[in-house]
Amino acid sequence: MTNHRRVDVLVVGAGPAGLAAAARLAAAGAGHVEVLERETEAGGVPRHCAHGGFGTWTHPLTGPAHARLLTQAAVRAGAVIRTGVTVLDWAAAELPASGDAPAPGPDTVLTAVGPGGPEIIEARAVVLATGARERPRTARLVPGTRPAGVYTTGELQQAVHLFGQHIGTRAIVVGAEDVSYAAAATVRAAGAEVVALVTEHPRAQTGRARAQSARLRDRIPLLTHTTVAELLGHGRLSGVRVRRRDGRTADLACDTVVFTGDFVPDHELARRGALALDPGTRGPAVDGGLHTSRPGVFAAGNVLHAVERAGTAAAEGARVAGAVLDFLAGAPWPDPGVPLVVGAPLRWIAPNRVNPADPPARYVLRTDAPLTRPALRVHQDGRLLHRARPGLGTALPNRTLTLTARWTDQVDPKGGEVRVSVG
Ligand SMILES: Cc1cc2nc3c(=O)[nH]c(=O)nc-3n(C[C@H](O)[C@H](O)[C@H](O)COP(=O)(O)OP(=O)(O)OC[C@H]3O[C@@H](n4cnc5c(N)ncnc54)[C@H](O)[C@@H]3O)c2cc1C
Repeated sequence: MTNHRRVDVLVVGAGPAGLAAAARLAAAGAGHVEVLERETEAGGVPRHCAHGGFGTWTHPLTGPAHARLLTQAAVRAGAVIRTGVTVLDWAAAELPASGDAPAPGPDTVLTAVGPGGPEIIEARAVVLATGARERPRTARLVPGTRPAGVYTTGELQQAVHLFGQHIGTRAIVVGAEDVSYAAAATVRAAGAEVVALVTEHPRAQTGRARAQSARLRDRIPLLTHTTVAELLGHGRLSGVRVRRRDGRTADLACDTVVFTGDFVPDHELARRGALALDPGTRGPAVDGGLHTSRPGVFAAGNVLHAVERAGTAAAEGARVAGAVLDFLAGAPWPDPGVPLVVGAPLRWIAPNRVNPADPPARYVLRTDAPLTRPALRVHQDGRLLHRARPGLGTALPNRTLTLTARWTDQVDPKGGEVRVSVG
């Protein structure tokens, strides 16, 4: 039998973004704030990142400690976290309005399934905080056999840190970003050898995890300008065939391969709800207030930008709570704003719609090519709105580049798209 329920705010996903949103909403008296999480425990990705690198410079934490802290804060504030519950789809409203709450529109009804069976949940507002995932081998179209021993970083970390599983003895790690070095550290923690890191790029793209990366880098061969051309072996992986930029190939013996990075937003619910998606990020398109294209539906965290640090996701969770509170208090749904787009070699920007009244939060971007001390220009209809040099160093692919929002009040809401370019 289907369980019909009504809440004030439904948060989908109990990672840093969803938990921070729920904590702030519950503390501010938003009513019944419920977080649904498909895993058996709340905390999101940090739950299985056994390494440090979370928290703040003054209060560093491991991933699991960070996850616990955020979960406790949400529960203490009064949010209800329900685990083992997967949100499946959107549905039409079926319940009559009750209490003082305005009758919800059809866009704010979701179906879910949990330990008690199917559920229909109506909410006055919904926050999508479903995070991101690494593209697995199949999505990367890597040819070859289908042996055991093939992981993404998330799968590897769960196997090693949550379930204590044996993963093999010799591993190739595909990628050379911070997350790739985290995967290499997990391989070692499991007692296996890292044969090499393989990247198509000319160098590693590492940042804050530099100390750990440097230590590991000294000891692990890094094969640059190299791609994985084929997986070998039947039953268990016996090796990978790699291809150099000049076309030469070589077979590397291993029984484990970890595909790292190459993140995509977990955007299935957004797509099923016909929310407008941004073609660059492939997550829901949002304005600076994190409003999606559907009234009553907000989004925060890595579903908007795959991927940023946990602190950025949590800060967005707190920010989206402010916009949800305004909406619950009767603020009208804002105009969609004008599109915010980037020019090559920039790949994407988030948020990616802009309204002159947007809150002054910064934008995050990615580049496809290394840029030395890049100057970013913001134009609308040939008018220069802003020019800035966001950093002194080199911006690398897969690394965060930021842009201030100190120009959004100059945007003409009736004008054309706003374009961010390098130059
Ligand atoms: C290997 C790795 C190492 C990292 N290391 C660091 C680090 O050292 N420092 C740092 O700051 N950041 C690090 N990060 C990034 C950090 O983990 C993320 O920024 C952060 O977890 C993003 O939070 P989120 O809430 O947006 O998404 P997530 O943490 O991904 O949480 C989303 C949650 O939504 C749930 N969910 C999705 N769909 C549904 C559904 N339909 N129904 C119910 N629940 C659903 C998921 O199960 C998940 O728990 C790392 C990431 C990875 C992958």
